[in-house]
Amino acid sequence: MSRINSFDKYSRKVFRLEESLPLLKDTRKEPDIDIGDIFRGYYFGSALRMKATSTIEEEIREGVLKKRVKQNISDDTFGYGLSHLEPQSLQQFWYMLIKRAKRNGMLRDNPFLDYSVGVLDGIETFSSYYQECDNCLTRKVTKKNKKNGKEEFVEMIQYYHRAVVLTLVGYDFPIPVGLEMMRKGEDEINCALRLLKRIVNNLGVRFLDIVIGDALYCTPNFFKECKLLGIYAGAVLKDNQENLLETALAQKKITEPVIVQKKDKEELKLWDLKEVIWDTANTDARVLWADRKVWERDPTKQGNKGKRGNLHHWVEKKNVFAFSEDINLPPEVVYSIGRHRWDIDANIFMDIVKHCHLKHKTLHFVNAYENMLSIRLISYMLFRFFFHRHINSRRKEKIASPAKMVRMMYRDACLNIEPETVLLE
Ligand SMILES: [Zn+2]
Repeated sequence: MSRINSFDKYSRKVFRLEESLPLLKDTRKEPDIDIGDIFRGYYFGSALRMKATSTIEEEIREGVLKKRVKQNISDDTFGYGLSHLEPQSLQQFWYMLIKRAKRNGMLRDNPFLDYSVGVLDGIETFSSYYQECDNCLTRKVTKKNKKNGKEEFVEMIQYYHRAVVLTLVGYDFPIPVGLEMMRKGEDEINCALRLLKRIVNNLGVRFLDIVIGDALYCTPNFFKECKLLGIYAGAVLKDNQENLLETALAQKKITEPVIVQKKDKEELKLWDLKEVIWDTANTDARVLWADRKVWERDPTKQGNKGKRGNLHHWVEKKNVFAFSEDINLPPEVVYSIGRHRWDIDANIFMDIVKHCHLKHKTLHFVNAYENMLSIRLISYMLFRFFFHRHINSRRKEKIASPAKMVRMMYRDACLNIEPETVLLE
């Protein structure tokens, strides 16, 4: 069986993808091409990291996706169909897949003593000075311009889209579970809270135990709203919450670290500061303060390859996290939760933005853009389950990376195109 066929089967059997497709609500009247087919085309195209819908169109017509999608779908139909797909119904479809993963026991075994941990983060997926849609956010940007040989600074309006994504961490790969597009005039925290409320309403209060974010999320409002939802909050603590940081520092000075670790390339001192007064929040916080010394390559030094040791030096680093005061887990676990906040930057967003071409300016219509982003994340999630839990877990010789797996999948799908389709051309 070709690998893409096996991915198709995996999606159907393990996640019952086909059974959930009727959840998708299409507002087109009597469409020629079913929305399920459009989803399927974009879903497989995303898994194979295809850049534009015009490429997906070609691959459905006479390439590797011919066997996956029943009818030919033009570039325009993708755009029109996806802009008439109700984003809420696609979110419902997404929840069904998450519920299946949970029911199948695929969300067990994380390193946080069975507490499920989500990371909230904003991702900018599009920006342009010339293209816009009704949902575009805007900002003023000063640009350097050359006019008649003279350099001048001009203020221009830039259009962009930003989404907040909730991702479960602590597993063999980060698992995206929902996204919400930022609306005009709204800040990231409000957008994130809208997403969190939706997740709790649809997946239940016990789905998520802890949610963390970067320093932007370290606000009294975010912590208060999470508490109302029954979720512990955590965030990177920096100068933007000066009074909390100062109180924590004062408390750190008069207490001993709870963990002191010395390894070859890292030294760690960790303080677990409980009941740190957070004046502006009218509550206390639990602060985890890590002073680290890390043996790192010194970027200012250059030398011969053979003399690597000389190019390294000790660098002092500091990581401070604020958590809800009543989070009842050992300090090393809470600290590890804080550190997982960086997983998604390094993993999912880089992967998706770099390889899945989210900055590509295709199909910039209301709804289409949001739906494409969601389908890309859904496809990422199922492909990663397939790669880590189905393919690599059974092999003695592991496939080095998901990207390599995609290349293998594409290559053997090329060998599997029926001969008559090649002759037709
Ligand atoms: Zn737009």
